Amino acid sequence: MLCLSKEAVLETVASEVMACTKCGLWRTRKNAVPGEGSPDAKVMFVGEAPGYWEDFKGRPFVGAAGKFLDMLLAEAGLSRNMVFIANVLKCRPPGNREPQSIEIQTCTPYLDRQIRAIEPKLMVTLGNHSTAYIFSKTGLAFNGITQTRGKFHQINVLGLAVTVFPTFHPAAGLYNAKYKQLLTEDFRLLKTKICEMGLI
Ligand code: URA
Ligand code: SF4
Repeated sequence: MLCLSKEAVLETVASEVMACTKCGLWRTRKNAVPGEGSPDAKVMFVGEAPGYWEDFKGRPFVGAAGKFLDMLLAEAGLSRNMVFIANVLKCRPPGNREPQSIEIQTCTPYLDRQIRAIEPKLMVTLGNHSTAYIFSKTGLAFNGITQTRGKFHQINVLGLAVTVFPTFHPAAGLYNAKYKQLLTEDFRLLKTKICEMGLI
């Protein structure tokens, strides 16, 4: 049986993503953003889609929301090289519009392959789209991010037992003090959980 390393699977996915033309978003992208981080990450973050700077650089969370995410990661005792950061969509929707369901349907096999390769113990879903997608894999009802966030959900994702922790999208914290505060609280909870689970 051909058994590829995690690294090799992730590299294959990344090169397929960079050449992908499966949905219309390839026409307007500068760069696809496959995601990045440690193949051995125990904690995986799933965002929504690249924005302007991510599309420009081909890397996830490198704009204003990314700077805030870096602060939140530090709050949880994490750094980018210990985790893996990916998005539901790998190409930027023009003008940062909402992802369309056909785009999500077409693109998420890449995310699924990344999840299967990494086998994270803890998955942090950032915002509505990412949480809705992961919950859709489990048969659990998703009643919006406000209902779901800040709690640890023991679920089975793609045959893996994963603790899923939904929180707001970091971009929501940029211009809204309440969301910023709740995000900060959520990442503190995350730190405790990571410690309890012995993940770092
Ligand atoms: N927002 C996201 O959801 N993902 C990114 O990579 C950047 C901003
Ligand atoms: Fe392919 Fe996903 Fe980009 Fe669409 S968004 S072109 S499916 S990589």
